[in-house]
Amino acid sequence: MDRSTICSWLTERDPARLQALWDWADRVRASGVGDAVHLRGLIEVSNYCVRDCSYCGLRRPRGGLPRYRLSEEEVMQAVRRAVEWGFGTVVLQSGEDPGLEAGWMRSLVTRIKKETSLAITLSLGERRRDELAAWRDSGADRYLLKFETSNRELYRRIHPERADEPGRLSLLAHLRDLGYEVGSGVMVGIPGQTFDDLSRDIELFGELDLDMISVGPFIPHPATPLGHEVLSANGVPGGSEVALAAMALTRIKCPRANIPTTTALSTLDVGAGLERGLNVGANVVMPNLTPPPYRQLYQVYPGKGGNGEDPTTEPRRIIERIRALGRCIGDGRGDAPKSWAPAAAALVAEVRT
Ligand code: SAM
Repeated sequence: MDRSTICSWLTERDPARLQALWDWADRVRASGVGDAVHLRGLIEVSNYCVRDCSYCGLRRPRGGLPRYRLSEEEVMQAVRRAVEWGFGTVVLQSGEDPGLEAGWMRSLVTRIKKETSLAITLSLGERRRDELAAWRDSGADRYLLKFETSNRELYRRIHPERADEPGRLSLLAHLRDLGYEVGSGVMVGIPGQTFDDLSRDIELFGELDLDMISVGPFIPHPATPLGHEVLSANGVPGGSEVALAAMALTRIKCPRANIPTTTALSTLDVGAGLERGLNVGANVVMPNLTPPPYRQLYQVYPGKGGNGEDPTTEPRRIIERIRALGRCIGDGRGDAPKSWAPAAAALVAEVRT
């Protein structure tokens, strides 16, 4: 599917045509990765962040948000819950926090690997290459780093970069070289994003040959600069609809990737977001295992971190909802079923020029 075809699907509004797109993506999902839904326990390790991203509620300049770092014991309690629930993976995520020291993270990864058979996904932002290498050496399996948008100018505007940084696309290639399974993704509906930008994002997913791809709606946070920007008339609108189309097209473009139904989608549509994502190509769900007192503080966008459900039963409810769709829960770690095409590193170099 070329970029102009992707673009015309993204602007499609006819309900019957959209239903045909959802069904197409669902068939590709069934033949590409099967009916199993893999569960990854999300543990939000720290909400400190050194970045000034204009979209994110954890951004450094934001005042009034109490900051936390989990202790090793708090993380291990959440890890044990993942084991009890039969999950195959834990995802350790945080703001970009140098206070999460490389050595501390290294011994945490080593301990989780020693005490469990879980796969570990890290999502800790743009860390130094030696740190990424050390964590891989100690057993981390996967790394998730969203490039957020392929439009370089828009990206620079929403994610101020330091001059000496390699950039996210280059880091993705480096993570692959280190032997990680590599995940990336974008937000849909960022103010200033065009349908052509989003089409290019989806095309790029295919070129990067990613193992995991996360496509979620942008949700404005009033305590951030982007929380107040008015969307341009011909830009990608916020909300779930275009995000769902982008997810479906991502599945069609990347039949074998692991694709989560995002927390942002469930935040916009608490009652049905999970099902809608799973019906348009997703095969992964990430139940939140962050200890309850901290969840409200990992406020990437409003509404995240609590929908009133009892945290001790939330995974059970999620499992019931998955089964009610006629899908089964994945066994084991849910590793990516595909392998990296060496040519993709060259493509990364190309897109950066
Ligand atoms: N610090 C790491 C990083 O930047 O990769 C990981 C944590 S970051 C909070 C995780 C993701 O949250 C980002 O990649 C971004 O896509 C998403 N996010 C941040 N602000 C958002 C917003 N307002 N709406 C939707 N998603 C958002």
